[in-house]
Amino acid sequence: MGRARLVHERVYQVGGSSLSDPRDCMVYLLVTKDLDLVLIDCGAGPSFDAIVRTIEGSDLDPRSIKDLVLTHGHIDHIGAASEFVKAYGCKVIAHEEDLDAIEGSNMLKTAADWYSLDYRPVKVDDVIKKEEETRTVGDLELHFLHTPGHTPGSMVVYLNIGSKRILFGQDIHGPFDPSFESDIEKWRASMKKVLALKADILCEGHFGIYYGKDKVEEFIQGHLDGMH
Ligand SMILES: [Zn+2]
Ligand SMILES: [Zn+2]
Repeated sequence: MGRARLVHERVYQVGGSSLSDPRDCMVYLLVTKDLDLVLIDCGAGPSFDAIVRTIEGSDLDPRSIKDLVLTHGHIDHIGAASEFVKAYGCKVIAHEEDLDAIEGSNMLKTAADWYSLDYRPVKVDDVIKKEEETRTVGDLELHFLHTPGHTPGSMVVYLNIGSKRILFGQDIHGPFDPSFESDIEKWRASMKKVLALKADILCEGHFGIYYGKDKVEEFIQGHLDGMH
């Protein structure tokens, strides 16, 4: 079992390729003042138990997961969603433009076949529709910024804790493929919006965690430059 990594005060990494399953995206957990939990993405599915044990191993109670944010409709991010909902009754939040993948009407767009996994669809309870929306969970204010490109319904999540802005940019690096309706021009525009957030910490979907405004900018700008 992997041990949760403390990313920042009240932010943990509880899943990922070296932590829970090689197929998993990096899975993050936010803790409110009252110890309610927000899970940001949930891995490819087979590692559900491993992620739960990692949360418990950090002296947090998975039954306190109130919200599950799905940053986009790829299986490595949404595979365990149905199990988390069944086990803990958490509310699912996602962007409307990836509902077809998450709710199961467009299986191709989940990329499940790339991973040779079966995806069990889940219903989205709270649909993000605007360019930017906020939700209050306990004392945390979560911002959802629509960042189409990798997929049409990709979004980043950010919040301010103390003087630090923490950005969850799952798969802002790409990749891009027609089967999941990628759009490079939209991605470029999205990355400019993400750069403008001037985040202090970037929690990426696969590449790792970047500390410091300079490192965050370097990661995003490097990918923008690399696409020329
Ligand atoms: Zn991914
Ligand atoms: Zn993806």
